[in-house]
Amino acid sequence: MGSYRELLAQVKSEITEIDAPRSHDLHAQKSGPLFVDVRERDEWLEGHIPGAVHVPRGFLESRIEQVVPDRATPIVVYCAGGARSAFAVKALAELGYTGAVSLAGGYTDWKRNGYETQTPRSLDEGQRSRYSRHLLIPEVGEAGQLKLLDSRVLLVGAGGLGSPSSLYLAAAGVGRLGIIDADVVDESNLQRQIAHSIQTLGEPKVLSAKATIEALNRDVEVVPYQERLTSENVDRILADGWDVIVDGADNFPTRYLVNDASVWHNIPVVHGSIYRFEGQVTVLKPQAGPCYRCLFPQPPPPELAPSCAEGGVLGVLPGIIGSLQANETLKLLLGIGDSLVGRLMLFDALNAEFTEVAIRRDPNCPVCGENPRITEYVDYVEFCAAGTPA
Ligand SMILES: [Zn+2]
Repeated sequence: MGSYRELLAQVKSEITEIDAPRSHDLHAQKSGPLFVDVRERDEWLEGHIPGAVHVPRGFLESRIEQVVPDRATPIVVYCAGGARSAFAVKALAELGYTGAVSLAGGYTDWKRNGYETQTPRSLDEGQRSRYSRHLLIPEVGEAGQLKLLDSRVLLVGAGGLGSPSSLYLAAAGVGRLGIIDADVVDESNLQRQIAHSIQTLGEPKVLSAKATIEALNRDVEVVPYQERLTSENVDRILADGWDVIVDGADNFPTRYLVNDASVWHNIPVVHGSIYRFEGQVTVLKPQAGPCYRCLFPQPPPPELAPSCAEGGVLGVLPGIIGSLQANETLKLLLGIGDSLVGRLMLFDALNAEFTEVAIRRDPNCPVCGENPRITEYVDYVEFCAAGTPA
């Protein structure tokens, strides 16, 4: 039986090795080989060759087919010093990979030559634990979680819909949540607005929600806007930079304002609304699908609109619709799944029934159509002033 040294020499004689300068030349090529780093995670996190993919040696055989399906792909495998990569290249050859070579001297030699390196951004230990159930889903994973932590979502309203959607988005690790709401917490809110509590009665809803969210997840920064959304402040608030707007507004003037602003600022809106036992949710993505005015060009006259004060609602309904809004928001942020763009989802709580209606862009839409007639914010008559938010 031979020693490790003899075994390594034997393996090296069976594979192709290239030195650091040669690897560097290949790395500089536009369609050069794929660099595969087979070191351990902690080594990878301290720095790696730019553009390399990380497949730890222990998972090489089981994961390489996913990472490199084409077995003819030119690959430069590297580790720290060139030993683990030599064994890795031998294993790859046995799996049928014909273009794999080992970087002699490994990452150590690469660095010694002064070649460029890259330090990956990664989740810290606490975050790996907190978001472990996301990390287990390939569609999210570490890259997706980092994306969520970098994301910014603006919630219109901290009421029935804003409560569940903001709490789920915060729990999921969406890094920045803006919340617009001018109201204070009232006892009648607590039947459904779960971001608030007996302790925060009388406090501004945005501050009450901020405290709840911060107690849930320290990764989340809450930007409170304790004001009513108007034509005066909407551009200032949107200029703070948001990837998605979650519309939980309870009244038509705000809904139209959010719609027009989102079209002009090109920000997707996850729209939700509720009434008694019925809720609806859709995604209004500028240019990709209809806007709210494609469906309803103008608000109904005040006498026909159900005022918010009269509009009772089953306590759990906003929890269902607001959660669906959070779901659509996470999908938009991660770029996964089929969104509700062009689909209006209706939920009937009494019959426990979901139905779906296809909705289309209107080429004559006054805001997003070919010849828009509305090009400035419209302040509609407030017909919900005395009401309580949904
Ligand atoms: Zn439209």
